[in-house]
Amino acid sequence: MFRKILTQALFTCLLLINANSDAANIVTAARVWPAEEYTRIAFESTSPLKYQLIILKNPDRLVLDVEDVELSSVLQTLSDKILSSDPYIKQVRVAKYKPGVVRIAIDLKGEVKSNLFALAPAGDYKNRLVLDIYPLQDELMSMLDKRMSKPEQPSADTQKPVVEPLPPNTNLPDETVAETPTKPADATPAAPTVTTKPAENKPEVNKPLVNKEDERLITIAIDAGHGGEDPGARGANGSHEKDITLKIAKKLKEKIDAETNMRAILTRDGDYFIPLHGRVVKARNAKADLFVSIHADAFTNQSARGSSVFALSEKGATSASARYLAKKENESDLIGGVSLDDKDPVLARTLLDLSQAATINDSLKLGKAVLGNIGEINTLHTSRVEQAAFAVLKSPDIPSILVETVFISNPDEERKLNDEAYQDKLVSSILSGIKKYFATNPALAKSKIAKE
Ligand SMILES: [Zn+2]
Repeated sequence: MFRKILTQALFTCLLLINANSDAANIVTAARVWPAEEYTRIAFESTSPLKYQLIILKNPDRLVLDVEDVELSSVLQTLSDKILSSDPYIKQVRVAKYKPGVVRIAIDLKGEVKSNLFALAPAGDYKNRLVLDIYPLQDELMSMLDKRMSKPEQPSADTQKPVVEPLPPNTNLPDETVAETPTKPADATPAAPTVTTKPAENKPEVNKPLVNKEDERLITIAIDAGHGGEDPGARGANGSHEKDITLKIAKKLKEKIDAETNMRAILTRDGDYFIPLHGRVVKARNAKADLFVSIHADAFTNQSARGSSVFALSEKGATSASARYLAKKENESDLIGGVSLDDKDPVLARTLLDLSQAATINDSLKLGKAVLGNIGEINTLHTSRVEQAAFAVLKSPDIPSILVETVFISNPDEERKLNDEAYQDKLVSSILSGIKKYFATNPALAKSKIAKE
């Protein structure tokens, strides 16, 4: 009973908060994350935004109407954030369309796929509205689509394609667009959702899969943790984990590519977000032999220091701190922003159903080899490979480890992380660990060669 009253009181409070914030929904930030893979625009607001997206052709553009907001400087300056080098967006024009409606017209460089979705508050973020703009032949999305084995679906309600060609709207507001009655999505011929076959295994590196001696190269997938909307942990002196992980990942790739029998692929090569399962899919698509996720997390205790290496666990974490860390890492999707449509239940289930025992065993061996080498250049936070349910380590057939290089929350270690010479040492020790793993597990490398 008491609980019921409490719930009701809480509900009334929420309603009041909502009623208050409805009166003045403020767009507090607008961020743009341009990348070859996809460009993301994220709007952050005090309350959920009311919106409508209109897809137009000839020329290609997207028109996003946002209701109950004022044309604030945050929105007005959005156009300044579009780089001329953006792969998909030519320019953005923002204007007050009618009282309480701001129209954002996005002129595109060509035909694109788009995905618009709202996100509830997560991490330090308030409500977000996210617009992702993908190339028509999008590698990651196609990979995910293939695995979903769902029938082609009509575009989401929020994306109502308007078929009538409209004159290029060089000026805003464009009355014609608004007067056009929006048809139900299913009554209109679908926008060009007829998807496009993925570019088959578009190589991310120049190095060919097979070298001169006709021997298969060992492929290492390197995953720079976080990225884009998900900054990861923040150091005492302001460094972002996502920047440091990318630097280290790129250095590691360079070192691996310099080896005669190895090549590396990066799950991301810039400051943009890739969902956790997207990272797994990329590694599998590249037929990676190993997966190494690079992190530099914060811990509640600032004095926490040292490196650690983690593997997946099928049955609970090996320690409370491993559980805490896995939980935090798995929040990456919430903070980075994954649309519900993109969540791939089929893939998730497939991964869970497969027994990963053998792979985990190899992951532990790999982890041990890497940990042993890192131990030569840094103190270890834990001397054994810890295990927990890290979503990014869930490749059923690729030995996968997550390396917590050092704690960014420790000011001393943060300084180390920003030091190029230290980064080089760290990368060399990870590579030595990988090589040691292959030296002691030749069967794996051999069977991979035989498969080719
Ligand atoms: Zn992390």
